[in-house]
Amino acid sequence: MMQQNDFHTVRGYQLLAQGDKQLTSAMEDYLEMIYRNIRKDGYMRINTLAEMLNVKPSSATKMVQKLTGLALLDYKKYGIIFLTERGKEIGEFLLNRHNIIEKFLKCIGTTDDILTETELIEHNIGSNTLKNIDLLTRFLDIHPEVITELEQFKRECSSAGDPSLGE
Ligand code: ZN
Repeated sequence: MMQQNDFHTVRGYQLLAQGDKQLTSAMEDYLEMIYRNIRKDGYMRINTLAEMLNVKPSSATKMVQKLTGLALLDYKKYGIIFLTERGKEIGEFLLNRHNIIEKFLKCIGTTDDILTETELIEHNIGSNTLKNIDLLTRFLDIHPEVITELEQFKRECSSAGDPSLGE
């Protein structure tokens, strides 16, 4: 059964497969954050962006100018940022990618800081891996008994003192 956002996910895989290699990890972080905020408020302010990303407003301005040069942002005046159509498309993909990885880490029961782990993984993952992770978590959605069995297996390993657990 196709879910409503499958179309966008598929386009996302294609975006990644095409490899927008002009984008650095930092640029991706900016675009993802701007997209999150614009989806909510309709625009993004330079000062808010700088605060959210923990950078100086001058650094945020520099990066926003770069992304504007790549035709991903529309930034003219008053410190207010908008996304271009292309920027929206990539921003949507970046947020989707983030959510797919975060959901996967929750599924496997990661107890480390999930946000930090997601941020580390998301910039380096290939399109085929992302697609398979997405399919796996969607499979687990419709087969929650697999997660229950996984949890049971983990408890057995841990009570048997499985050395591979290392903790
Ligand atoms: Zn992210």
